[in-house]
Amino acid sequence: MSLTEQTAILQKYLDLDQRGAVIAEYVWIDGSGNTRSKGRTLKGKITSVDQLPEWNFDGSSTGQAPGHDSDVYLKPVAFYPDPFRKGDNVIVLAECWNNDGTPNKFNHRHEAAKLFEAHKDAEVWFGLEQEYTLFDHEDHVYAWPKGGFPAPQGPYYCGVGAGKVYARDLIEAHYRACLYAGITISGINAEVMPSQWEFQVGPCTGIAMGDELWMARYLLARVAEEFGIKISLHPKPLKGDWNGAGCHTNVSTKAMRQPGGMKHIEEAIQKLSKRHAEHIRLYGADNDMRLTGRHETASMSTFSSGVANRGASIRIPRSVSKEGYGYFEDRRPASNIDPYLVTGIICETVCGAIDDADMTKEYERESA
Ligand code: ADP
Ligand code: MN
Ligand code: MN
Ligand code: MN
Repeated sequence: MSLTEQTAILQKYLDLDQRGAVIAEYVWIDGSGNTRSKGRTLKGKITSVDQLPEWNFDGSSTGQAPGHDSDVYLKPVAFYPDPFRKGDNVIVLAECWNNDGTPNKFNHRHEAAKLFEAHKDAEVWFGLEQEYTLFDHEDHVYAWPKGGFPAPQGPYYCGVGAGKVYARDLIEAHYRACLYAGITISGINAEVMPSQWEFQVGPCTGIAMGDELWMARYLLARVAEEFGIKISLHPKPLKGDWNGAGCHTNVSTKAMRQPGGMKHIEEAIQKLSKRHAEHIRLYGADNDMRLTGRHETASMSTFSSGVANRGASIRIPRSVSKEGYGYFEDRRPASNIDPYLVTGIICETVCGAIDDADMTKEYERESA
């Protein structure tokens, strides 16, 4: 059967009336930094998150629970219009909880949310730059010559034209899917290494940053599935003279965004400099392969900051320095971060620790 014929058959069923039922696709974060999802039928249009029932799954199949106590509970925290099923159908983001009433060890949202709630008057905004790499079915970098390498880096960043840019159709489809779902996607660009791309989400306030980035990653995996392309979030997918992949984290508080804000930006950088090692532990696995001091990165062992300096841990954009207020960019986080860990510890460091949350302990909880 041809693809056209198959599409026509599927379309007959997609056109059927759902008779008032809504399909909710529940998404969660598994034990290896990927998303998983499953669907269920609900009655009627969803207008608030408390209309969404709790659910559960077999955590022993996702590396999130032992076989003898395998139920992991899904607590809905946000929902988005579903760009695949459309209509009143929704995609639901859920936190994972254990049977004994404790957050699952890969649920880092719970602690981070406490920090953002305690510091809500600071109005912390984030903007994340998610870099990622495309691979084909045989695990070759997508569209690279088989058994060889493309010409060295140079023409690919924001590249235009055949041989300089790959999979623009996939990137465009993902961009539109994010807009449909109400994700605060602020842009896209082709990266320095061919078949490496970036999308930006933000500014988003507090916990919504992690929620929206995870949802944007889920949408990317789903769209790429249709194109038969694999998405890698590894920070150094290819050894050698090829750029790694990061997740630059742009940060501001209300005070930083107002005239005179530079003083607050400098204070924040001062605080970050004292906890470099603690931050690095939460800034992604294999980040040592990326933070070498080359390829527009700072070395992992030292903390540095500077205006317009893409070789520093923290960069103050030139425009921010000129105006005297705005935001700063933490360039250390890797592409494979859990954004809840990174935004959570930045909030803790910049706005102050609270008694009932400790982001540093989250690392130990996950590795326990
Ligand atoms: P770069 O020049 O580092 O490539 P990008 O344009 O890719 O920067 O990304 C900048 C990010 O900063 C965007 O996600 C944007 O939403 C975010 N951003 C802009 N202003 C602020 C702010 N005041 N606070 C936090 N994030 C911000
Ligand atoms: Mn960028
Ligand atoms: Mn980039
Ligand atoms: Mn950046």
